[in-house]
Amino acid sequence: MKTWKDHIRKVVPYVPGEQPQGDHVIKLNTNENPYPPAPGVRRVLREMGADQFRKYPDPSAGLLTRALADRYHLPAEQIFVGVGSDDVLGMAFLTFFNSKKPILFPDITYSFYPVWADLFGILYETPALDEEFRLRREDYKRDNGGIVLANPNAPTGLCVPLTQVEDIVRWNQDVVVIVDEAYIDFGGQSARALIDRYENLLVVQTFSKSRSMAGMRIGYAMGSRALISALEDVKYSYNSYTMNAPSIILGAEAVKDEAYFRETVEKIVRTREAAKERFRQMGFSCTDSRTNFLFVSHERVSAKEIFEALKRAGIYVRYFAVPRLEDYLRITIGTDEEMEELYRFLEKELPKMGAERAEH
Ligand SMILES: *Cc1c(COP(=O)(O)O)cnc(C)c1O
Repeated sequence: MKTWKDHIRKVVPYVPGEQPQGDHVIKLNTNENPYPPAPGVRRVLREMGADQFRKYPDPSAGLLTRALADRYHLPAEQIFVGVGSDDVLGMAFLTFFNSKKPILFPDITYSFYPVWADLFGILYETPALDEEFRLRREDYKRDNGGIVLANPNAPTGLCVPLTQVEDIVRWNQDVVVIVDEAYIDFGGQSARALIDRYENLLVVQTFSKSRSMAGMRIGYAMGSRALISALEDVKYSYNSYTMNAPSIILGAEAVKDEAYFRETVEKIVRTREAAKERFRQMGFSCTDSRTNFLFVSHERVSAKEIFEALKRAGIYVRYFAVPRLEDYLRITIGTDEEMEELYRFLEKELPKMGAERAEH
């Protein structure tokens, strides 16, 4: 074997949900927003010429950073933008988790966290959520090299109240605490309210879910000037131009339309609450999700069997074949029409399913 092979960095990558192509697919597997981006985004996109592509974009993405600063009443120096929150979170792991002590995150959470930790050589421990997938705060009150919490959590959908987030941050003022708020707009109070009090708190959000722009790849972090400036130093040591010109312009446009944002988020929340009821009637247990997805388990039929039957019917949901999650499905909230099609299929097919389990 050639020695160059010994020097390759070997990693086990994160596996994103499938992106099936084709028209007759109901796609409820990657938590995309079923509604289009704001009307202003569509208008500016139509008017946008290709001339601007000749030049490099603004490395500070000032237009977008200022739009977010206005929206959240923060100085622009307290906001960092990146290529989706995955880019922001990856950069934050690289920047802030540089201790010899292990960082902490729950055993069940966003499965990208262990991937970044492995990639960057960061030690980590994963305290187990309780039987009902609740966070045990005492697990985060011990010596550590940093903390990352998704709130609301994925794929459980559960949200920790802000007072409990603050309790964890207060206890851990010697390390950086990252709160990943990919779903916060669908329920729960943002930890953004705490960043002026805790210099070590970084709050990360995204345009992918509540702002219908997963394909544009825009994420951002809010925190103290010290944290944001450290993130920028790492970014400018790696790639000055992470944000492309259309993302900067269209992202800024999306943030301006607060009314459309509220309207679409409220529609999804209404559909979600109705969906919880429908799923319970069909024999599913369902966590109290505060996100744009449901986390469900059927009393009789295995998650894998339902997942496969749905897929054959062109309805994609997410199934995780990993310990503690193999009985559950994560189902993105779609339009009311898409959800009706899902209920129709399940109401018709569930009674015929589950024979395998019944035999044992
Ligand atoms: C979707 C998601 C992200 C990443 O979103 P981007 O599209 O990269 O902005 C990060 N964290 C959690 C928990 C998510 O569900």
